[in-house]
Amino acid sequence: MTVRLIRSSATDADVLWAARVSTAGGQSLEELTKDPERSKGLINYLMRDRHGSPFEHNSMTFFISAPIFVFREFMRHRVGWSYNEESGRYRELEPVFYLPAPDRKLVQQGRPGKYEFVAGTPEQHESAVTALKESYARSYAAYQDLLAAGVAREVARATLPVGLYSSMYATCNARSLMHFLGLRTTHELAKVPSFPQREIEMVGERMEAEWAKLMPLTHAAFNANGRVAP
Ligand SMILES: Cc1cc2nc3c(=O)[nH]c(=O)nc-3n(C[C@H](O)[C@H](O)[C@H](O)COP(=O)(O)OP(=O)(O)OC[C@H]3O[C@@H](n4cnc5c(N)ncnc54)[C@H](O)[C@@H]3O)c2cc1C
Repeated sequence: MTVRLIRSSATDADVLWAARVSTAGGQSLEELTKDPERSKGLINYLMRDRHGSPFEHNSMTFFISAPIFVFREFMRHRVGWSYNEESGRYRELEPVFYLPAPDRKLVQQGRPGKYEFVAGTPEQHESAVTALKESYARSYAAYQDLLAAGVAREVARATLPVGLYSSMYATCNARSLMHFLGLRTTHELAKVPSFPQREIEMVGERMEAEWAKLMPLTHAAFNANGRVAP
């Protein structure tokens, strides 16, 4: 999976600037660097008391390449996100498919809402990889056969499975990213635990690492307040 930060305008100062306008009015830009400890305290207060809108005045655009089953989950996040994805109508799709890594926990135990995943045996991993490869090869061959027979790409693509990779640009702000991370990562500091599929979590972890570099105070306050989006 690929996650690249393409463009950003996102700093902790953007949060302070937005928050301080309420008391300092048009002078708020001058307040930014006056007192670093006070700034840290203000970000923490905003996070703790869930004053969310100051965390919206920033922007991050990611290029993401991941299986379609990850994108299906990703695009359920509607608020504070913009998406553009490659088209299966206008271009021929490349044969790039998902295979679980050897350390991907393969066996699901428990009941709905209370699952845990445990490591599979080497034989289970081998069976999964073999079955996926065979299925991908068959479906991609069918796709190519239909294209060769003159069938339009938009119809031929129906042969392809959700393990096929797609790519997109996703633009968000810190508030919408925090909401995403609260739901799509598991973390020991989370006040409200979530149990996301590992593959979308891997994407989330990489986005979080980029965001933490851009907005370290905001990221620290997110963790310190139970990873609940303000
Ligand atoms: C572990 C996990 C399992 C899931 N399983 C399933 C599943 O089995 N089936 C399934 O369909 N989905 C499933 N989902 C998707 C889930 O239901 C949400 O659609 C997804 O997590 C996006 O969350 P959201 O709506 O809060 O985010 P966003 O769409 O980004 O919305 C952000 C916030 O805005 C507000 N908001 C947005 N739209 C509305 C609205 N129309 N009305 C009122 N308030 C709104 C809410 O406060 C919301 O939290 C799962 C998600 C997770 C994390």
